[in-house]
Amino acid sequence: MPNTSEQDRVEHYSQDRLEEVVKGIIEGKIKLHEADKVLGNANAGALARRLALEKMLGISLSSIGSTILDFEELVGRNIENPIGAVQIPVGIVGPLRVEGEYAKGVFYVPMATTEGALVASVNRGAKAITLSGGARTRIVYDGMTRAPLFWTPSVEEAVRLVQWVREHFDEVRREAESTTRHGKLRDIQVFFTGNLVWLRFVYDTGDAMGMNMATIATDKAAEYIVSNFPGRARLVAVSGNMCTDKKPALINQLLGRGKTVIAEALIKRDVALKVLKAPPEEIDYVNKAKNLLGTARAGSPSLNAHFANIVAAIFLATGQDAAQIVESSMGYTWTEVRDGDLYISVTLPSLEVGTVGGGTRLPTQREALSIMGVAGGGDPPGTNAKKFAEIVAATVLAGELNLLAALAANELARAHRLLGRGEAKKQQ
Ligand code: NAP
Repeated sequence: MPNTSEQDRVEHYSQDRLEEVVKGIIEGKIKLHEADKVLGNANAGALARRLALEKMLGISLSSIGSTILDFEELVGRNIENPIGAVQIPVGIVGPLRVEGEYAKGVFYVPMATTEGALVASVNRGAKAITLSGGARTRIVYDGMTRAPLFWTPSVEEAVRLVQWVREHFDEVRREAESTTRHGKLRDIQVFFTGNLVWLRFVYDTGDAMGMNMATIATDKAAEYIVSNFPGRARLVAVSGNMCTDKKPALINQLLGRGKTVIAEALIKRDVALKVLKAPPEEIDYVNKAKNLLGTARAGSPSLNAHFANIVAAIFLATGQDAAQIVESSMGYTWTEVRDGDLYISVTLPSLEVGTVGGGTRLPTQREALSIMGVAGGGDPPGTNAKKFAEIVAATVLAGELNLLAALAANELARAHRLLGRGEAKKQQ
């Protein structure tokens, strides 16, 4: 059955017409993607697909059908063949004090997760950081990349191609930038393998995460290169995987992709003891033994405790590209004991975030961004995305600090029993 919100949006369709389309889908006469066109409305198409699926599978999908999303707005931009939406609970972390270049003040951070104990854990880390004067943050590199792969007949020709691109950089940049108001080509990094060449285009993308922007711009520039280079070169693929998008990659960790962000804090000894229940020396030892030695022994290049927990929950709440959690959650946690206090930093070399474009325009995701004061384009452009990146890094710092302290105090399993298995509720 259609639910109330669906009925509101598709009430001008006769039940008979809808049923006809549902029947057509079940019988294979109407393809899933054709429902929108046949009914002339993407919300009606979503309803028809869902009802057909329910009938074919003999199950109810009424929860998936309950959504505030208007598919007339989203189809063609964010989704194809929609049938509804899934909901993820959103918890709030804060107050978290951040003293960055762009993020200054006290923030509340939305995290979408179904992992019990996660929000509480990050929240305790935020409390310790805020009581210690806040997290200092800096963006030390900013550049979204796309690396097209070119074939040439020989290494000699490959070198000639690169030389030509270097000599004609201004023209190549003009072509790339003709596709966008905000995208600015900053650099082209070169990688050879035999007769093959990767040109890794690096862009400033304003407040957008920038992957579409960079791809469209690079495609235009690559076409210009192939058409104008007075030798033999062929574009194999606009993405030659040295970008590197949505895969763990050392190139991103070394050269950066998106924003390279660092957050640090000096946790006072009394705060560590009172709030985190662990002395700085123990937290420092756990970090070095676990995050550095343990990770090295395991052969992972990402030396941290759980960046992915925080990055994933914020990405889901704010409409970031979820697959980019892969590279955005790579990075390093460093600690030192300083006069009895704990210095802690997190470095995220490849944090890919935006406050415009992609999923950030969805109503709940936009509200989540507005909690941090970063919804939409910044003034000047780029400042919202940078502020957001600093807040994400500060929240990752809170997550790392608390988990390391919990391990040092040996209380991780207890917290998960209480908050992840509902035992806290049973005890109330
Ligand atoms: P986008 O929505 O494609 O582009 C951002 C748009 O916002 C542009 O039209 C830009 O205009 C406009 N804009 C307005 N104000 C802006 C501001 N202050 N700063 C920057 N741009 C502003 O978003 P995107 O970040 O480039 O790409 C994100 C999407 O790409 C996500 O949906 C993601 O899933 C998808 N994605 C694509 C690929 C791919 O290879 N194509 C790969 C991974 C992910 P101007 O361009 O005129 O400046």
